[in-house]
Amino acid sequence: MIVILKENPNQKQLNNLKNWLVSQGITIHESQGVNQLILGLVGDTTGIDIDLIKALDIVEDVKRIQDPYKNVNRKFHPLDTVVDINGLKIGGGHFQIIAGPCSIESEEQIVEVAMAVKKGGATLLRGGAFKPRTSPYAFQGLRQDGIKLLLEAKKITGLPVVTEIMDISQLDLFADVDVIQVGARNMQNFELLKKLGTTNKPILLKRGLANTIQELLMSAEYIMAGGNPNIILCERGIRTFETATRNTLDISAIPVIKGMSHLPIVIDPSHATGIAKLVPTMSLAATAAGADGLIIEVHNDPEHALCDGPQSLLPETFAELVKKIEKVRAAIA
Ligand code: PEP
Ligand code: MN
Repeated sequence: MIVILKENPNQKQLNNLKNWLVSQGITIHESQGVNQLILGLVGDTTGIDIDLIKALDIVEDVKRIQDPYKNVNRKFHPLDTVVDINGLKIGGGHFQIIAGPCSIESEEQIVEVAMAVKKGGATLLRGGAFKPRTSPYAFQGLRQDGIKLLLEAKKITGLPVVTEIMDISQLDLFADVDVIQVGARNMQNFELLKKLGTTNKPILLKRGLANTIQELLMSAEYIMAGGNPNIILCERGIRTFETATRNTLDISAIPVIKGMSHLPIVIDPSHATGIAKLVPTMSLAATAAGADGLIIEVHNDPEHALCDGPQSLLPETFAELVKKIEKVRAAIA
């Protein structure tokens, strides 16, 4: 980190700043330019609040040279992380397809969709029990009953399950859930992230609607700093000025994240587009761009789905898509 001081800084304030930095374990290299003094900070600056220094009277600007994320940074962990989901691997060349309905609606529905997606080639089952809905009047999910039904579908099909947590208080209900999803709206629920860091459960961390890739990595850092390295990142579209699709799928997030972090990244083409007929194309594009997996919404009766029907594939369309995904994977191998 470098700190650029204003011309003729107040000496007392400068000494206070330098003493404080030294007390934080930082070594200071000073270089005096024609008009301005520059302090080069050497050491672990991850704990230094850049805004705190920027706010000082004597400081003109502060620039970070090192990334603020360490645990999730590829620089400190060059090899791809492979997340082990009870024996099923994702990352480092292992590709997984998560499929299922947006929401668990009934035993019949989740079991039927689970069997259909398994037959179609899904390797994990998704289904929301706790639903973050924009309207408080919309279907909120079957909550703990939904988790029970999802575990029933897991027992019948043998598929590991992925479902969303919305609040720390729900954690005990997730004991038999294989992957805990943190939804876009909770990406910066830092208390939740800290708590998930104390577990050893694989976490599917979705990028927020209006968050940068660096912010996504900082959220992953919260989980990993707490001791849980089992994180799968998910790009699910971001909000832009475009209205033709529900969100804008940032395909470039895949190679960008691969450069910045060792964590696996999956793409959610369903929430990214909001339109079922766009899901196959975007799934293939994401696969070609190097994603480690996909999370796709599939419903046996999309027209009557309680949530996200317009973006849900029918099981037969999903099965056709899986065959094409396999072809793309073979082509880029
Ligand atoms: C979901 O997966 O159903 C969901 C609510 O996703 P997101 O958090 O990406 O909107
Ligand atoms: Mn959904």
